[in-house]
Amino acid sequence: MSEQERRGEASVVKPIPHDTGGENECEHALTHIYEYLDSEMTPEDEQRMRAHVAHCSPCLAELSIEELVKKLVRRSCSERAPETLRSRIRQQLFA
Ligand SMILES: [Zn+2]
Repeated sequence: MSEQERRGEASVVKPIPHDTGGENECEHALTHIYEYLDSEMTPEDEQRMRAHVAHCSPCLAELSIEELVKKLVRRSCSERAPETLRSRIRQQLFA
């Protein structure tokens, strides 16, 4: 069944399963996390991302961390957040 056929059948937005025919949704989400945060995604991909994190707490956590890191980095004017900052945020979130 093609992606379109599947979508046509389902009128309700279904949670995206973690494994969709070979493509790993979590991998997809994490690969495109910066595009999402920078609003560089197509509306369709953005919706897909939102639908995924709504049902996947590891990816939602990762998204929250990156969002925080992005804010902090912007404030400190450096290009990329040091790994120490990332792990500090992670510790705060999961303490
Ligand atoms: Zn995920």
